[in-house]
This record gives sequence, structure tokens and C-alpha cells, in this order.
Amino acid sequence: MADLEFPIERYAALPDLSGLAARDVRTVFPESALIALEGRQKQPLFVSALIHGNETVGWEALKRLQAWMADHPLPRSLLIFIGNVRAAERQLRMVPGRPDYNRIWRAGETPEHELAARVTEIVRAAQPFAAIDLHNNTGANPHYALVHHERPEDLQLTSLFSPNAMMTHNPPGTCSEAMSAFCPAITAECGHSGVAANEDAAFNLVRDVLHLDHWRGAPDLPLDLYTVTGRILIDPDARMVFEHGAEGDVEFPASLEKWNFFDRPAGSTFARILNCGNPVRVTTETGEDVTDLCFVREGDRLILKRDFTPAMLTTNEAAIRDDCLGYLMEKAG
Ligand SMILES: [Zn+2]
Repeated sequence: MADLEFPIERYAALPDLSGLAARDVRTVFPESALIALEGRQKQPLFVSALIHGNETVGWEALKRLQAWMADHPLPRSLLIFIGNVRAAERQLRMVPGRPDYNRIWRAGETPEHELAARVTEIVRAAQPFAAIDLHNNTGANPHYALVHHERPEDLQLTSLFSPNAMMTHNPPGTCSEAMSAFCPAITAECGHSGVAANEDAAFNLVRDVLHLDHWRGAPDLPLDLYTVTGRILIDPDARMVFEHGAEGDVEFPASLEKWNFFDRPAGSTFARILNCGNPVRVTTETGEDVTDLCFVREGDRLILKRDFTPAMLTTNEAAIRDDCLGYLMEKAG
């Protein structure tokens, strides 16, 4: 695979996207694409879509943007990156056996890292006003942003999308973190794919930032800013169940996802351990095991040791096995 190369094709206009689903992306963008559209203010807004191929919100937001542009002049220039077109064609997060396009924005050896480095250099040279990476997620979550700096302009950008924000540098190699080296940048996590209200929210965010003349130096709304204590991992051999009384090794409530972005107090039950062993662990960004700081066992109950706010909890077993059960966060500041 060492001879694989991914070109970036550059465009000065958007082809007609109306009627095209994200899986049809290669009929108009056969390779990853950068589209530069000129607006009244020349400093561009950078928007990325389809970095994860099955997260269609960015694509659908671009279709809304194109329809809107039919009778509205662009208030600010746009630089649009269309990411993993091969994964989108297959309606997958990423192409099997190839890197995740949201983990390639730091130094690395693969052709995909090389692609990300070239895109970063082009965007950096354009001195963008801001960068927005549009994603969907699994699990029941409110809209939330991943933000990487406590700079006032990053927090204002965040507040234009949602009051829920995670301050994080992880996972390493995300697009928005790379862009945050030279402009305010967020990942906008827009809920489930295929939901019109989520696509509207993504479009509204892009349109609002296009209309923003300058950064005022403060959030537009009060933010709930969280830092991540750790990710919750389940022993790959443990059988998980999501209903009371079912046979397994660890039991979570069926409504687990309803805890996302809700405060869970110290002393509340997080799970039940039905057999011996410790199938639930929490690790930090650097891989340090912090399970004992987060949980304590009382009989068969696994209890929160401190006040936490979970996020990205999912009951989707494949997502848990591929990634994690979710995250434990604490209020920043
Ligand atoms: Zn994503």
C-alpha cells in the first residue's frame, strides 16, 4: 500500500449537489476535494465534511448552503474540504484496513497522513477566520462541540453551536485540533446521521459564522465546559447486558444513553457487576488507568466515586467493542 497516493482536487465552485446523497459523493468528487468559494470578506471560513464517511451531516449542510447561496451572496469566503469520499461511497466511517480520517492530522507514515498534512498547509496559508469540522455520532447526545483552547474566540465559536462543550486534545490527530493551531476551531457533533434538524443545526452554524464580522472576545451564551477524566472501556471478554435480570457479566440500564450530558452524583450506581472480575475500566488520554479514582464497588454495584457528567455513552455493542462505552467528564474551571 506504500505506493497509494491520495490527490487533492481543487475547485473554484460547487458542482450541483441537489439530489445527491453522501454515498454518491464520488460522482462529483472522485477524490478528496478542496473547494474555494469567494465571499465579501476574504478571510475564509474552513468547513470540513465527510471526514467520517457515514456521518452525512456535513454533506447535507453543504446542500442547504448551496440552496441558500442561490439567492444570498456569500458574506465571507469559504474553504470546504470533502474528506473520506471512498468511505462515504461505502457508507462506512472509514475504509477497512485504512486509517480513520479523523486521526491523521498529526505526523504519521501513511498516505492519508500525507493528505492531511497537505490540506493543513493549504488551510494554514489561507489564514482562516475559523474552522468547523462537521460530524454525527451514535448514542443519544445533545449537540456538543469539541474545543481545544480556552481562547475567547474558540469559546464564542463553540457557543454559536451549543452550550455543551468538551475541552480536549483527544483523540490525537483530529482535524479541528490541527486547525486550532492557527485559528479558532471546533468539531461540531451534530447527533445522529439522517436527521433533518441536525442538518439544519449544522447549516445554521456555518451560516452564522459566515455572517460574523469579527470575534467579540466572549461566548454568546453561557457554556457548560467539561474536561475529560477518561474513557470507559469494557473487557472484551465480558458479556454486556442492558436490561435488568439478563444473564451476563456486567449490566447497564437500558436507558444508559439518557445520562449523556446529565450530571451523575457521587454515590450513584453506574453498573452492576454480575460475575467476579473487573470488566469496567477507565483510562486517561495517555492510557493511565484511573478506574479507582472514578468507581468504587459496593456489593455488586459499581458506584461513582465523584460527581461526573458522562458523554457519548452508547448501548451499541459494536461501537463499544470498536471504541469505548463512553466518557466521564467533569466541569472545567
Ligand atoms: Zn465523526
